Amino acid sequence: MRRPTKYCKNIECEEPITDYKSSKKLYCSESCRNRNGYLRRLEENKEFIENDKGQKQNYTVLNRYAEAGIYSEDLSKLKKFGFNPKYLKIGKLYSIDDRKCYIFSLKDIEFELDEIKKLIIIHNSKHHKNGRD
Ligand SMILES: [Zn+2]
Repeated sequence: MRRPTKYCKNIECEEPITDYKSSKKLYCSESCRNRNGYLRRLEENKEFIENDKGQKQNYTVLNRYAEAGIYSEDLSKLKKFGFNPKYLKIGKLYSIDDRKCYIFSLKDIEFELDEIKKLIIIHNSKHHKNGRD
């Protein structure tokens, strides 16, 4: 009985694996195994760098607002300046005036994302504290 043909897991190769010494074999060669590991790490690294860049960009946009003394803005407007909620870390749930809200921190800036009104409210930054000054 013939075993079904397996193909090398290295996406740059995908040659049939003819060596059946081990049925667990995933790559046609050692170099393909190494190459695939390298490509996978590169991909993971790319995601990490992208996430880092996204957070920096979010901070830059928010900081520009805090600096200008604007503490509340439509999310859609912030997005136009490059703000992307995709890169937000998990927020902390707070209750302010009986209203539940998620507060996010980015360096010195603490801000709220109002999902219903689609609004960003900056509560604290190095430029102001507790919405005053
Ligand atoms: Zn291969």
